[in-house]
Amino acid sequence: MNQNKIYTLNDYFKDTFQEKIYKVSLDGGFTCPNRDGKVAKGGCLFCSEAGSGDFAGNRMKSIEEQIEDQLELISKKFPEGKVIAYFQNFTNTYGEVEYLRKVFYEALNHPRVMGLAIGTRPDCLPEDVLDLLSEINEKYFLWVELGLQTIDEGVAKIINRGYNLGVYVSSAQRLKERNIKFVTHLIIGLPEERERGTLEAAKLVNSLGSWGIKIHLLHILKNTALAKYYEKNPFKVFSMEEYIDYVVDILEVLNSEMVIHRLTGDGKKEDLIEPLWSLNKRAVLNGIHKRIKERQTFQGRKANG
Ligand code: SF4
Repeated sequence: MNQNKIYTLNDYFKDTFQEKIYKVSLDGGFTCPNRDGKVAKGGCLFCSEAGSGDFAGNRMKSIEEQIEDQLELISKKFPEGKVIAYFQNFTNTYGEVEYLRKVFYEALNHPRVMGLAIGTRPDCLPEDVLDLLSEINEKYFLWVELGLQTIDEGVAKIINRGYNLGVYVSSAQRLKERNIKFVTHLIIGLPEERERGTLEAAKLVNSLGSWGIKIHLLHILKNTALAKYYEKNPFKVFSMEEYIDYVVDILEVLNSEMVIHRLTGDGKKEDLIEPLWSLNKRAVLNGIHKRIKERQTFQGRKANG
């Protein structure tokens, strides 16, 4: 199954649905408790103005219109076929459950949408929301994305994450109990992160049965609190070589069936302060594959070690 040494989302789609499936990124009109004052103001240190979803649809439009816009954008390479509606930016379970029901089903009712991906915070999954997600999960393909980023409580404070590790663990377990697939986000390169901190985080995520993982490279973007922090407290920024090696170390400790959704980051070129090498995403991804070959290793090689 894992002939490419990494089990990617495309591999999963091919294995499960025997076809290519794209994602269309939508803006469900949500905000975030870490920005509106319920948990904190100002948001996570790295969060962009668009709520960490700079490529999502336009929130002034209906869900249906956003899906049409996004389908138009990919129409050349993907003129037909099914897509996943990805509620990406801000916290997409932060709202009245009836509102969530409305926007999620509006997406699911589009003839080309076969399922949902819902990005959220682990502290925004009360029982009534989980009930709705279970209901959707019984009828459609679904995954939920949890922004963990780090397991170090000190680093979590610096980035103003606004919840502690226990909240993630409990949400992961509750999703697991309901058989709802979840993807965990981790960030490499956060300020004050211990040398192997993200590797330890990956081990924990693996042990909790996360269905998938998104590994991000920390991007320092203009007009974010992180940019100001970096100016005052310059911290270590990974070189491309260091990053590549670190990603390969992480892949080794994940079980071979964990779905790899992302191995680097996407930031708008005009907003990026550091690391500038990350603009060459192809080089980063090629570098990871090359390093896997050189090290004669593969995803899962140390999963139980
Ligand atoms: S939880 Fe997400 S949307 Fe909210 S502040 Fe953090 S990164 Fe931004």
